[in-house]
Amino acid sequence: MIKTISYLGLGTMGSGMASNLLKAGYELTVWNRSAEKCEPFARKGARVADTPADAIRDAELVMYSLSNDQAVEEVVFGAKGILSGIKAGQIAMDMSTVLPATSLREQEAYAKHGVDFLDVPVFGSKQESADAKLWIMAAGKRDTFEKVKPILEQLGQTVHYFGKNGNAAAMKLVGNLIVALEMEALAEGLVLAQKTGLDLNTVMEVVKVADFRSPLLVSNGQNILKRDFSPSFALKLMLKDAGLIEKFAESLQSPIPALRVVGKNLESAVALGFRKENASAVIKALEKEAGVEVKARRPLGRSQVLAHKK
Ligand code: NAP
Repeated sequence: MIKTISYLGLGTMGSGMASNLLKAGYELTVWNRSAEKCEPFARKGARVADTPADAIRDAELVMYSLSNDQAVEEVVFGAKGILSGIKAGQIAMDMSTVLPATSLREQEAYAKHGVDFLDVPVFGSKQESADAKLWIMAAGKRDTFEKVKPILEQLGQTVHYFGKNGNAAAMKLVGNLIVALEMEALAEGLVLAQKTGLDLNTVMEVVKVADFRSPLLVSNGQNILKRDFSPSFALKLMLKDAGLIEKFAESLQSPIPALRVVGKNLESAVALGFRKENASAVIKALEKEAGVEVKARRPLGRSQVLAHKK
């Protein structure tokens, strides 16, 4: 049974997962590029390392969640990176959203050191990571997956095994293609509803119950109506993912016409200065074009009360 874990990358997602590993009683070492993010973990008993190579020294399992392919390049392959210190028998898991080709490159590089590698991206955001309610996918050798499954089950509400390396990374891009289109659909729908003068609270009540409902539409729709764009999944990350999906789909000659439109709207929202806001801020590009702001005129929930009274 695995007892010692290193977690590298304590951003929105990594910090939630690392906290839950500490809570579950694992012996944890942490590393983050900006060292101050390690402090809360040090206070709770984690060892703080100065470099990725130092962080992974004594760990049976090495986990990381980093922004993008470039960050993985630096932390895994760079000087004082994970590969410069890892030893045969350790297990490595990349939980970032990256190209399947990057996962395969990682797997090959780790294999040269006698290390098994799994690509383990996740669905869910800040809250799901903090609450250990992520939806987790994993790919790589089956027996390696079985060894880490009990740990993954402490971080998420579901764990799906996808077979060979790169497949979980591919599934993540398939899912994020759907997420991007849902977000765009919500934004376009709310702008249209606003333009035609519908009561937006009642619009959201219908979105909540109709056959096209989804938790993503509900939470983002409600936050848009409150004008709350604090990031749980940053717009810059969704734009990054749109780029990955484009590259991946092109490599397979799979059509993604709608995703290309979302990519353009995300770029417009970035140009307007909203890259650090939540991905739902894509609506601000459409609002500018439409000359409206989508905002609730009264507190949420009232229409539901009225509906119940009838
Ligand atoms: P985040 O809050 O921006 O954190 C990114 C992490 O990567 C930070 O620890 C950051 O270090 C580190 N990093 C970035 N560039 C680096 C570099 N060049 N060298 C070393 N470290 C670097 O991002 P996040 O939301 O946690 O997302 C992490 C990954 O999970 C991404 O691949 C994202 O697409 C994926 N994901 C996110 C969500 C979500 O809802 N947020 C959901 C599912 C999957 P610093 O602290 O020093 O900046």
